[in-house]
Amino acid sequence: FKIPEIHNEPMKSYPPGSEDRANLKAALNELKSSAPFEIPVYVNGEEIRTGRIVEQRIPSDHKTVLAKYHEADSSIVEKAIKGALAVKPIWETYPFSDRSAIFLKAADLAAGKYRYKLLAATMLGQGKNTWQAEIDSAAELIDFWRFNCKYAAEIYQQQPPKNAPGVWNRVEYRPLEGFVYAISPFNFTAIGGNLPSAPALMGNVILWKPSPNAALSNWIIMEILREAGLPDGVIQFIPGPAQEITDQILKSPDFASLHFTGSTFVFKKLWKEIGNNIDIYKSYPRIVGETGGKNFHVIHESASVKNAVNQTIRGAFEYQGQKCSACSRAYVPDSLWDNFRENLLSELSKIKVGPMDEFGNFVGPVIHAASFEKIKGYIEWAKNDADSQIIAGGTYDNSKGYFVNPTVIVTKNPKSRTMCEEIFGPVLTIYVYKASEYEQILDLANETSPYALTGSIFAKDRAAIILGESKLRHASGNFYINDKSTGAIVGQQPFGGSRASGTNDKAGSPALLYRFTSMRTIKENF
Ligand code: GLU
Repeated sequence: FKIPEIHNEPMKSYPPGSEDRANLKAALNELKSSAPFEIPVYVNGEEIRTGRIVEQRIPSDHKTVLAKYHEADSSIVEKAIKGALAVKPIWETYPFSDRSAIFLKAADLAAGKYRYKLLAATMLGQGKNTWQAEIDSAAELIDFWRFNCKYAAEIYQQQPPKNAPGVWNRVEYRPLEGFVYAISPFNFTAIGGNLPSAPALMGNVILWKPSPNAALSNWIIMEILREAGLPDGVIQFIPGPAQEITDQILKSPDFASLHFTGSTFVFKKLWKEIGNNIDIYKSYPRIVGETGGKNFHVIHESASVKNAVNQTIRGAFEYQGQKCSACSRAYVPDSLWDNFRENLLSELSKIKVGPMDEFGNFVGPVIHAASFEKIKGYIEWAKNDADSQIIAGGTYDNSKGYFVNPTVIVTKNPKSRTMCEEIFGPVLTIYVYKASEYEQILDLANETSPYALTGSIFAKDRAAIILGESKLRHASGNFYINDKSTGAIVGQQPFGGSRASGTNDKAGSPALLYRFTSMRTIKENF
């Protein structure tokens, strides 16, 4: 069998006066006028209303409730595990072509019928501007679904192993024995889609706990998968109290894998919990996680200042710095500093901050009160730190929404708190180094943070590029040259990091799909 030719989904730009803009506006109005949506738990093809209700609010207007979701409780978790395991023998024997047909259809539904609705839910619920929502809930989500089918086909259709005279050898890529537990984050609707879908495509069954702050967009994904024909029970949608349902799930002997995107702290905690429960499980669980980052831009003196400034602003402040891949520390040579600073401040002065449903705002709200308080804490710390100077932003306002103005700190201490710790907000720290000490600065950039997700160098000089690439070899899983540290595209730049940033199993590549398979080797003598 062959799956259809796969391409990256073309992105729409929603220019004023266009039909796309009108459709998107209509979807936004529809969401606002019919909010709050009621979101059920969805288990075994049944919508369940437990009555334990939690609200998802609009971060740019935190008095407004966008959705109310029902939380799963322990009886539902039990039902979800049982139901998933019951459907597993059927699902895993579906021909791959039929499993992939479901996800290819889901991709077409997300590209067409559901595009504006998904975009509107991502813009309002997760605080993304139109472009950020388009690259997420349209392009990346669709690309994950389509490219995974291509990668899975490559895995299943590999050359078989060699035979010897009288011996026939085969290998089989089985799904894992048991179920996969997927925990997805608020910051990418597409990741919400990929975490349960990638293992499901490989024949697994999944319990999916979406993020409370992405409940609506994630529920729309579930609706799309239903409409695309996903059999009941293959993906069980169970929003709920994280600790409580996770503790219960991790105690099941059939727990076979964790597929996680979220904070380093939570991932380590789950890893320990899984370790403590190891004797309970039938198999060693596959632990797959993408966690935090403290991503760097190192600028060499041969770099184009204009490009370095533009990419740094985009890397640091698009989606308010709430991408795991966001640039949050930059190293600028003293020979370029005046020019860099002037360009940076001038570009920053053009940036508009405001709600996402008003088109034209570049920076929106951060996700919730706790995040606002955390970011504010770092800014206030910098104001009182003798080595730090705030040269842009440093202000915030949560009266209506959780707004933090893009903030740039210049530090004299390259190992200061804001150079090392993940802030997950629109805060960039810059260290100005002696241009002649480029090599030392590469070493410093490498050893400054425990993370290794993404990073960039900016240079025209080839020797500087070669040196950067080699010295920073283990400092990131995604390394960019003359480009920002964010914005990996499925099918083009497989994404993931190592060290404290995750297991580097590369979303958007066959490597991720392998993790949800368990090979069987079959030898037959003739
Ligand atoms: N893949 C995204 C990027 O390259 C980041 C994903 C994340 O924040 O987890 O920007």
